[in-house]
Amino acid sequence: MKFIDELQNYLKARYPLILVKSTEEDRLTMDLKLAAKNMKHEIVTWSIASGLKAENAQFEITTVDLKKAIDACENLARTGKSYIFVFYDIIPVLSAPPTNTIYQRRLKEFALNIRTEAYRCNCIFVSPQSGIDGTLQSEITVLDYPLPNRDEVSEQVNKFANEYKNVSNVFIDTSTETLSALTNAALGLTYAEIENCLARSLVEDKKLDMSDVKSIVNEKKQIIRKSGILEYVENKLSLEDVGGLNVLKRWLDLRGTTFSDDAYQFGLNPPKGVLLVGIPGCGKSLTAKCIASAWNMPLLRLDIGKIFGKYVGDSEANIRSALKTAEAISPCVLWIDEIEKGLGQGGNDGGTSSRVFGNILTWLQDKTSPVFTFATANNIRNLPPELLRKGRFDEIFFVDLPDLDERKKILEIHIGKTGRNLGNFDLDKLAKMSGEDNLGKNIRLAGAEIEAWVKDALMEAYARKTKGDKTADLSMTDFEAVIKRMVPMAKMRQEDFNELRKWANENAVSASISVKSDDSADSMHGGRLIDLE
Ligand code: ATP
Repeated sequence: MKFIDELQNYLKARYPLILVKSTEEDRLTMDLKLAAKNMKHEIVTWSIASGLKAENAQFEITTVDLKKAIDACENLARTGKSYIFVFYDIIPVLSAPPTNTIYQRRLKEFALNIRTEAYRCNCIFVSPQSGIDGTLQSEITVLDYPLPNRDEVSEQVNKFANEYKNVSNVFIDTSTETLSALTNAALGLTYAEIENCLARSLVEDKKLDMSDVKSIVNEKKQIIRKSGILEYVENKLSLEDVGGLNVLKRWLDLRGTTFSDDAYQFGLNPPKGVLLVGIPGCGKSLTAKCIASAWNMPLLRLDIGKIFGKYVGDSEANIRSALKTAEAISPCVLWIDEIEKGLGQGGNDGGTSSRVFGNILTWLQDKTSPVFTFATANNIRNLPPELLRKGRFDEIFFVDLPDLDERKKILEIHIGKTGRNLGNFDLDKLAKMSGEDNLGKNIRLAGAEIEAWVKDALMEAYARKTKGDKTADLSMTDFEAVIKRMVPMAKMRQEDFNELRKWANENAVSASISVKSDDSADSMHGGRLIDLE
């Protein structure tokens, strides 16, 4: 539902106190004026700097004293006319002692009277903050103001381009392709931020063209990082950088094409997302990075631990704001790393984590924007069953320790990264060395451990070189020496991993195609095996 329609519904339902959380005062004021016009209400505003103001001179009241201002608003309401009272930046005033209790009480009385005296008015608080404690908390309804949508961003970019295109000494590329790329880069920013970015790009070299897309994206990264909850992750990886996990990769590859208009016309909806549960260090995060770059989409990492704020209502507002940013930037991949963290606080936080979780669940279920959610989890004990229900994710995958073939692929990737010729190594032998044959029943190295093995072996070779063997280079003997010293994670956490596999057999699809291999990978594979070949 569009914000303006949602707001009008709250106004019509006579919600007395509505807090709209936004830093975009200008754009929001325009929307409030539109709502007032649609509903034939008059707007009266208050701020600590200017006191009460009404467009109609008849209501010119200039008091900055909040109690007197509310008294004046109530007098206006008593006339039976329709008003929207807009209070800018009222939260600090309502929180600062010693007047806070008087102001809060007075507003509460006004709110009660709006209901009982049938006043035709509402109060709207416009504020970037949502932290209200005390008596008013139960009276206030918090609404989030969405970031500008694609059409609005495009309008803003076009307006800027048109404003400067005829200015001498300035070049503005007004081609559709450039304006569309600039619009995509600016998605997720507010009007003021968009204008700042465009103005800075123009001032830098007196040009606005394709070359500015990167600097706008960089600026956006900073702005998103400042929110403290989302991080804009950039990389140039491809699915080729992930060894194994063929079922998952194939699944993702197929869905990469379904974000296009053509796919939509064909009757396909963009995929919702996947949940990857599995053993640490086996490529879950790596796949999130690779898929975003393979699909050529921005990757936003949501740090669930940072959502939890100090004030009542902050945590819910934080998650809503993060999800709204993701929607504004879509199509994008939203990577919720270790989703179980923060969702399993077991009711010791006054219900905050369950409300945050509720917000995520509802969003996962209802979202229509092309945000592909890539959630990962290492610990199933904290995973609430509601998360696993149909409709939240398109599929739940289990990522196990890599089997023989997968380990060979991972070795290829990481030895390849050292710049060595793969032909100089017996990869089959190395793959076997990193599995049950050498390490013991049910013990295999994880992808991250294979990477560490390669790095340590390289170090071993370099040590030989520095000790006098001038021709020494990475060789099989270095791998053999290093693996003898390694204590595989699977050895220390066998019980945990078996529990995960048991869970996966019931609840998830295996991310890998099991191959019959001499380290009896089949017996260890958790998750239903599906074959997409
Ligand atoms: P965690 O749950 O602990 O975050 P994870 O499953 O997300 O673990 P990653 O962070 O993706 O694991 O893996 C760490 C590193 O190990 C990767 O950056 C990559 O270098 C290497 N790695 C792990 N799995 C693979 C794989 N299948 N192919 C190639 N490299 C891998």
